Amino acid sequence: MAENLCYTAMKKFKAKYGEIENVSDREYFTNSIHVPVWHDISVFDKIDIESQLTGYSSAGCITYVEVPSGVKNNIPALETIVNYAMDHDIPYFAVNTKLDMCEDCGYQDEIGESCPECGSKNISRLRRVTGYLTGSYKDAFNWGKQKETEDRVEHIH
Ligand SMILES: [Zn+2]
Repeated sequence: MAENLCYTAMKKFKAKYGEIENVSDREYFTNSIHVPVWHDISVFDKIDIESQLTGYSSAGCITYVEVPSGVKNNIPALETIVNYAMDHDIPYFAVNTKLDMCEDCGYQDEIGESCPECGSKNISRLRRVTGYLTGSYKDAFNWGKQKETEDRVEHIH
């Protein structure tokens, strides 16, 4: 599946061609028609670019945007983003945000290093990774996808 291929294909590519700046200097290939996950770009610019490419993908495609967890308190902003994607004929659209949970007291939100309620560092970090919700992305995905998840930037412009 693509989630493993992004990592294993990069390992094989590096073994054959070496490390090439902006081509093979990461632990993974960028999946599908996506703007690279580390690229600083607005929600709307990302949709503008990817909506031009969806027709070239014969095996399906998804466009997603990464937004801060505070979006749950701003439904009009969320509606604006979704409507913009639909107006650009995005066939499959997702809005990614971070949701962490303290395994000791059950507190849920985007959590830094430790729980703001009880101070625990026993935190599950729910992330959407190429179509799949994981319990904790550090356990569920290979090294390449873990690095990709950590490289992701929020599209907050
Ligand atoms: Zn806690």
